[in-house]
Amino acid sequence: MLEGLDPEQREVATALQGPVCVLAGAGTGKTRAITHRIAYGVRAGILQPSSVLAVTFTNRAAGEMRGRLRQLGAAGVQARTFHSAALRQLQYFWPKAVGGSMPRLVDRKIQLVADAAAACRIRLDRGELRDVTGEIEWSKVTQTVPSEYAPAAAKAGRESPRDPAEIAQLYSAYEDLKRARAVIDFEDVLLLTVAVLQDRHDIAEQVRSQYQHFVVDEYQDVSPLQQRLLELWLGDRENLCVVGDASQTIYSFTGATPDHLLDFRTRHPGATVVKLVRDYRSTPQVVHLANGLLAQARGRAADHRLELVSQRAAGPEPVYSEYPDEPAEAEGAARRIRELMDSGVRASEIAILVRTNSQSETYEQALADAGVPYQLRGAERFFDRPEVRKAGVALRGAARFGGNDSLLDDVVDLPSQVRAVLSGEGWTTEPPAGSGAVRERWESLAALVNLAQDFSASRPGATLSDLVAELDERASAQHAPTVEGVTLASLHSAKGLEWDVVFLVGVAEGMMPITYAKTDEQIEEERRLLYVGVTRARERLHVSWALSRSPGGRPNRRPSRFLDGLRPGSVGAAARSAASGSGGVERGFTTSRADTAPRRRQRTPARCRVCGRTLTDAGEMKLMRCEDCPSDMDEGLYERLREWRALQA
Ligand code: ATP
Ligand code: MG
Repeated sequence: MLEGLDPEQREVATALQGPVCVLAGAGTGKTRAITHRIAYGVRAGILQPSSVLAVTFTNRAAGEMRGRLRQLGAAGVQARTFHSAALRQLQYFWPKAVGGSMPRLVDRKIQLVADAAAACRIRLDRGELRDVTGEIEWSKVTQTVPSEYAPAAAKAGRESPRDPAEIAQLYSAYEDLKRARAVIDFEDVLLLTVAVLQDRHDIAEQVRSQYQHFVVDEYQDVSPLQQRLLELWLGDRENLCVVGDASQTIYSFTGATPDHLLDFRTRHPGATVVKLVRDYRSTPQVVHLANGLLAQARGRAADHRLELVSQRAAGPEPVYSEYPDEPAEAEGAARRIRELMDSGVRASEIAILVRTNSQSETYEQALADAGVPYQLRGAERFFDRPEVRKAGVALRGAARFGGNDSLLDDVVDLPSQVRAVLSGEGWTTEPPAGSGAVRERWESLAALVNLAQDFSASRPGATLSDLVAELDERASAQHAPTVEGVTLASLHSAKGLEWDVVFLVGVAEGMMPITYAKTDEQIEEERRLLYVGVTRARERLHVSWALSRSPGGRPNRRPSRFLDGLRPGSVGAAARSAASGSGGVERGFTTSRADTAPRRRQRTPARCRVCGRTLTDAGEMKLMRCEDCPSDMDEGLYERLREWRALQA
C-alpha cells in the first residue's frame, strides 16, 4: 500500500493519529496520498472502513475515490460530498429530531426567489434574479442572516446586484416562502444538519460514534458552513486529515475560503503539516507555465504558493494559437483533436476546458463537424437519460423478483441476464439502422450492458442485485460508464481531474479574466482558475484565444493578461520562446462556412444542460439551458445544482 508513494506522501498515509494537514500544489499526489492513507489504515486493521468519512467536493470526485478505494481493497468506506453526507444524516435523523418526514428539496429555486420578489413588490430582471439568488446562497453558506447581510456583504467586498437592504428583504421573504411551502433548499441541508447536531447531543453523539476518522480533499474550497459541519462531526476529537492547495481556490465567490486550510496549524497546534512539491502529473514544460502563472499571483493564497518540480520526462512545449474568431478557434481545436486521434491518442485522454458553459455549444458543433465523439461533463448525465432510468427500474424489478435462480435461470452470466431484461424493454443486440434518437437510446443501453460486463468481470459471481447496487452508486456519483469521447468541461468542473492533452480555449481578455471580475480578489481567482486549467494536462497543452467573438466581427480582443510574459511573443517571453525553439504563437485561420460540409447535428431532443429538462422554447434551445437554471455566469452554481439534482434523483 505504501509502495508507489514518496516519503512525504508516505508520512501522510501513515500518520493516522491526530490532525494532519497537507499543503501542496496541483498534481503532487494529494488525492493519491489520502486514498492510500485510508486504504493503508483499513488494510492494517487500524481503521474500520465504516468509521471513515472521506469528504470531497463533487459527486464525481467522491465516485472516483470510492472506485480507487475499492481497487486498493478498502471497500465500504464512505466517500461523499458534504451535501450527500449531510443529506443522509438529515434524512435518517429527521423523524427523531423533528418528527414527520423531511421536507422536499425545492425544485425551482429561481422561481421561488422570483415569487419572493413579487411578494416584496420588487421588480428583478433575469440577471438580477440570478445574482440575488447567488447572494442568498452566499449568505447562507457564510451563515449570515438577513439582518446581517448588508454589513457582511460590504465587509466581504461583494458587489451587491441591488441595494443591500433590498437583498436582505428578499432573502428574508425567500426564507418565509420556503417555510410556507414546506420545502428546503440545497444550503438548508447543511444548515439543518448543523442545527440538529448542535441542538441534539444524543444525535451528535450517535453520528460521532459512527465516524471516527475524517479526511477532506480540496480543503481550500471549504465554506464556513461546511467547516462548521466538519467541526460538529469531529466533536473534541482530532482524527482529521485535510489536503488542499490554496492556489486552486476557485469557489470563493460562493463563500469558500482557503483560510481554514491556511490556518489549520493555528486551530490544531499539534498538527502534522506535510508539504508536497514533486509534481507527478505534468511534464516540466507544463509545470513551467503553471509556476509562471503562480509567480505573478497576489494575495493570501499566493503567499503560500509552492513551486512545483516536475518528476516527468520532458514533453512538448505548450502550443499557443491565435484565431480570428471563436468558431475558427473551435474548428482549430477540433481539427487538432482529429489529428491527435488519427495518430493514436485516445479520445478519452483529451479535454477541452472552457470558462463558461456558453462557449461549449460552439465546441460541440465543431467536434460534431469533425466527427469527434465527445461528452459534456455534467450535462445530460448518463443515469439521467430516460431510457437508462427505465432500464434501471426493470433491472431492479428483475433483481427483486427473479434474482439469479428463478425467473432467469435459463441464462447463465450477469451480462446475459441484463440483456434478457433489456430485451423486455425492446432492446436489440444489433444497433438500429440510421442515427438520431433511436440510435442514441440504443447506445445508452449498450453502454449499460458493457458496464454489466465490466462489473461481472471484476466481480465474479456478482448477482443482479449487486449490479443494481453498483448502478445506484454510480448514478449518485454521476459516473457514466466510459464512453470513449473527448471531454468538454468547464474549468470549475475539471478540478482534481487530469488528461494527457488539454485544450484551454478562450484565453482572452474578457473571458479570462471574465468581464465581470473587477476587484483584485476576483481577478486573482480568475488567475487561479487558469492555473487549475493548465495543471490538468499531463503532456500536451494547447492554449488558444480568438480576436473577435464571431466571424467578421471587430477584432477587439487580446490574449489574456495572465499569459503576459509567459506566452511567446509577449514582453519578457521572447528569450524563452527563442531558447526553447518553440515556434511562437501560431496563427489559426478561418474556415469559410460555405466550404464546410453541411452541419451534421444529430443530438436528440435538446435538453437543459443543467437540469436535463427537455427544451422546446427556441431561445432556451439556443442557450441549451432552461429559464429556471442559472446562466453560464455561475459555474459554481452549475456544479452545485447538478449535485443537488443528483441528490434528488
Ligand atoms: P490536484 O491538486 O489536481 O487535485 P493531486 O495533488 O490530488 O492533484 P493526484 O491526482 O493525487 O494529485 O496525482 C496526480 C497524478 O500523479 C496522478 O496520476 C497520480 O496517480 C500520480 N502520482 C501521484 N503520486 C505519485 C507517485 N508517488 N508516484 C507516481 N505517480 C504518482
Ligand atoms: Mg486531487
